[in-house]
Amino acid sequence: MKERLNRIQEEAIKKIQASKDLNELNDIRIHFLGKKGELTTVLKGMKDISPEERPVVGQIVNKTRETIEELLEETRLQMEAAQREERMKNEVIDVTLPAKKNKLGHRHPNTIVMEEVEGIFIGMGYEVVEGPEVEYDYYNFEALNIPADHPAKDEQDTFYINKNILLRSQTSPVQVRVMEKGELPIRMLAPGRVFRSDEVDATHSPSFHQIEGLVIDKNITFADLKGTLAEFAKQLFGPETKVKFRPHHFQFTEPSAEMDVTCFKCGGSGCRFCKGSGWVEILGCGMVHPNVLKMSGIDSEKYSGFAFGMGLERITLFKYEIDDMRLLYENDNRFLSQF
Ligand SMILES: [Zn+2]
Repeated sequence: MKERLNRIQEEAIKKIQASKDLNELNDIRIHFLGKKGELTTVLKGMKDISPEERPVVGQIVNKTRETIEELLEETRLQMEAAQREERMKNEVIDVTLPAKKNKLGHRHPNTIVMEEVEGIFIGMGYEVVEGPEVEYDYYNFEALNIPADHPAKDEQDTFYINKNILLRSQTSPVQVRVMEKGELPIRMLAPGRVFRSDEVDATHSPSFHQIEGLVIDKNITFADLKGTLAEFAKQLFGPETKVKFRPHHFQFTEPSAEMDVTCFKCGGSGCRFCKGSGWVEILGCGMVHPNVLKMSGIDSEKYSGFAFGMGLERITLFKYEIDDMRLLYENDNRFLSQF
């Protein structure tokens, strides 16, 4: 019996000393001291021992248990201390490290240009007006002198919610909504998102932005249009900028024109950027068609006006010399953080 206990104790000590972690230590405790453990099995055998010997053997059993328990406890404390040490080492704070900078967001290049354009026109007394992106067919086409069977409607193929409701293909419906209110004169700028069912490529996107302007008052002439847009171009692209108007056709203006500005890269002498011409097309414009005025309840004999519209993305691409429109929408931080 005594020898058996000695053997158990030696084995236990060996295992405890070889144990690597708290889990292993716990397994050892169960193996030797648990309900079905080796020491317990020995205790159960006490009944076969003569009453005289029992106290002596009992003492040895208790001594063995104590020895094993002490060693287990000691080892446990050592292991916990070592673990704590390890944790502290990992959590050490190096106060000499530079502080982490909080990354601040900033405006999207589209927004920067949009606000710049808005600022120029607000400075000329314009009001910035917004309208719904989901629009009636009537406001998007018909009220702008584009009847149901007109080919211009195909060019602006958009997304239909149903037969009468669509995602606006231009910001012009905002002008109709303002004209309908009948508060004259009007001097307004309508920036916003528009939609076309275009495939995505370097110059097209199913969703992009337009900035449109409208002026209606007595005695408004093409000279007002030219003066206003020439001033706008100078403020946006620099005081040396010249403008050129080329005749064009739009359904809701008459006469209509497209406006070019002198290339702000080469100043008009011709470069890769303007494809050697010295000019860059920037917007469409014209005198508001009398039909459009009439449909909105404005007396076209008394009042006249001009309108213009430009693609925001086009101007952003020019201004920042970006050659692919998709970059504006991909949310790639490496690109966006350059602005
Ligand atoms: Zn150029």
